[in-house]
Amino acid sequence: MDDAGRRDASRLPPVRKSLGQHFLNDPRILGRIADALELSGAEVVIEIGPGRGALTEVLLPRARRLYAIEYDRALAELLRRRYAEDARITIVERDVLQVNLGELAGGPYVVAGNVPYYITTPILFHGLTRPRPDRAVYLVQREVAERIVAAAGTREYGALSANVQAVAAAELLFRIPAGAFHPAPKVESAVVRIVPLSDPVVRTDEEDAFRTFVQGAFGFRRKQMRRVLRALWDVDASVADEVLAKAEVDPTARPETLSPERFARLLRARPR
Ligand code: SAM
Repeated sequence: MDDAGRRDASRLPPVRKSLGQHFLNDPRILGRIADALELSGAEVVIEIGPGRGALTEVLLPRARRLYAIEYDRALAELLRRRYAEDARITIVERDVLQVNLGELAGGPYVVAGNVPYYITTPILFHGLTRPRPDRAVYLVQREVAERIVAAAGTREYGALSANVQAVAAAELLFRIPAGAFHPAPKVESAVVRIVPLSDPVVRTDEEDAFRTFVQGAFGFRRKQMRRVLRALWDVDASVADEVLAKAEVDPTARPETLSPERFARLLRARPR
């Protein structure tokens, strides 16, 4: 770092590890993340956790409007000052989980974020509440990215995979080494793109029950579905078998092999 860089760095707010702060500076990687959003220039973009604004800087020229939600007061202040003259960007100093994204955008929107790892899953689900974004690109822990996109029957497939894939198409785009961040996290990262489905597997009124069911089922990951249904719904074996037959699911199948569609079928076959 040269003298100017050192002076600049000394003016930056202290790194708050408790807020999952790992900053990315590599222009090539930042460009690839922005590219993955496929912006035409007409979109309203919501950025989660802009931090020191490295990704913000790349997104802003490609967005019609940018809302950057940052919880750290000092960083939000830094960005407010930096962009004081720019009407296209608003810094929202809030906990992203307390912000209704659709309301903030006021219409169609897309989401981008190098998200804090301590609340990755809540953020992913928050980004899937209605009205959903047209698409979202997140930088997350590599292991989480692999779970998001995992197919039924693989080792990584779990509640997160089934819940995301029930409402969206997800792809892992590329991996990022820990050394690309400052300070470096302990784990590798990866970029995922999540595109909500126009015809999701699960209807709006089924979403909560589906999530509870899938979460519960993976609590019995190694058990057969007959046992899983009996335990989760407190039903006897004959009822569990009826449900499984109606949903056309093998009673000896294990949760880790069931696609989101099959979980949805089971839920719909549940006796009232
Ligand atoms: N986007 C920046 C970059 O790529 O260099 C920073 C990424 S850093 C991994 C995550 C950012 O999310 C930090 O700036 C942190 O302060 C912010 N953050 C943490 N918890 C948050 C929350 N609940 N709501 C909004 N922002 C949060």
